[in-house]
Amino acid sequence: MSHDVIVRMPPSPTGWLHLGTARTALFNWCFARANKGQIVFRWEDTDKTRSKKEYETEILAGLNWLGMDFEKKSDKFTRQTDNTERHNQALKDLWKADKIFPCFTTAAELDQLRYKAQKEKKGFVFWSPYRSMDHATLQTKIDSGKPFVWRLRVTKGQNMMFTDLVKGSITVNTDTIGDITVARQDGSVLYMLANVIDDLEDQISHVIRGDDHISNTPKQLCILAALGEKPFTYAHIPLVLDAQNKKLSKRNVTPGVCVLIRDFQEQGFLPEAVVNGLAFLGWNPKTTEEIFSLADLEKIFDLKKVNPAAAQYDFGKMEWFNQQWIKQLEITKLKTYFLEWNKRFKTTNSLREGLSETILGRSDEDYLENEARFTKALNLVRQKASTLPVLADELEYLCFDLPASSVTLHNEKMKISPALADQVIQVIKEMLEKIEASDFIAENIRTRSIEKIAAMGLKNGQFLWPFRVALSGREKSVGPFDMAEVLGKKECLERFNKRLK
Ligand code: GLU
Repeated sequence: MSHDVIVRMPPSPTGWLHLGTARTALFNWCFARANKGQIVFRWEDTDKTRSKKEYETEILAGLNWLGMDFEKKSDKFTRQTDNTERHNQALKDLWKADKIFPCFTTAAELDQLRYKAQKEKKGFVFWSPYRSMDHATLQTKIDSGKPFVWRLRVTKGQNMMFTDLVKGSITVNTDTIGDITVARQDGSVLYMLANVIDDLEDQISHVIRGDDHISNTPKQLCILAALGEKPFTYAHIPLVLDAQNKKLSKRNVTPGVCVLIRDFQEQGFLPEAVVNGLAFLGWNPKTTEEIFSLADLEKIFDLKKVNPAAAQYDFGKMEWFNQQWIKQLEITKLKTYFLEWNKRFKTTNSLREGLSETILGRSDEDYLENEARFTKALNLVRQKASTLPVLADELEYLCFDLPASSVTLHNEKMKISPALADQVIQVIKEMLEKIEASDFIAENIRTRSIEKIAAMGLKNGQFLWPFRVALSGREKSVGPFDMAEVLGKKECLERFNKRLK
């Protein structure tokens, strides 16, 4: 079956999954889905020293976590090093057709030329002296065993033109390119050529990739021309810049700012939120709507709505997306994510210091021991939390025994003497005792509390502070009425009794 749209996702497994790569994957994925096209996944693993299996595993798992199961859902799942024979054949054909030539200029000679150009403040373009030698002479040189690299004989003074779906029409003259290196002496083909040969083999229609590859495109057009092939359709998606307008990199950001997908996992982001945030790095629906799931994007994604200008990375915005998703996600899903984070990511957390030993020690079983309370608590605290560790912190006093606390029920600033604190606690206790367990809901507790506050002639805080501290042991917590409802009548009364002792 022939398809109008066939895209590819060809990561090099040379590092952990970066948000820029994840975004490229997302745009390809959504573009293919929105256009009922196909996706080819390809490991570009020809750089043997830098490619590692552990990176492959992590990249695939990260993409899968975001909802893109490339291993199972790609229409073709390939590996560049499996295509060596095909690359070699292409190289032989190109040599036979005189489109490439061996270049014997040494690295040291090239360095000198580069240095000279630099001193003269000129751009460095290399036209090999061997480009004009005839085939037979060059073959004799090859046979003599002199070291060389294979270069493409680029036609001088030619305009390479392409229409980029994001950037518009782009023209580059080959006079700024020079003769392109395409393979090593041993015949191992370099990225520039291997990538084109494989894209041709996979019948790619659209090359959607990061802006950092835009300077490769005119070179690859030269290669395509030499192979007698037509160009693909290109879309270069804008760079992601940090706050200093530099290309976003893990090394340059302040600690805590996520750049790798594993950072997001460790710091308690939901995949929905990361996908949503990544989509907005460059793409915009051109409406005021901001919340989009992967399923939404698969329907509406459109390259025309990708902004050609570089995208500024705003980590605060990522946290905002996370907060929105934590608030609105189906509760069973949120539970699953929370427990997954608890089990898989919590202890690898780069923010370990931010979590108490008690929280670090909580197992999934601990949370599930009283699942009903866990669910209720989660539903309550998710209204304000921006990440999963924040949820964990709040869940601590809602799901588990009241922790030992140094926060006092009395409070000088709020004019709550120890005697008044005791009195208030006593009143609250009696008030709660009178509410039937089945009516033990925040609204009822609120109504009765307001009556008591009025009857006792207190300021709200004088009543609510001891209430909050008695139940949570903390200065800050969710509201006492909601907290009481989640804890339930029995647990509330036990906590009050404990505090009264
Ligand atoms: N392997 C290349 C990379 O990871 C692919 C570039 C391309 O999409 O052509 O950057």
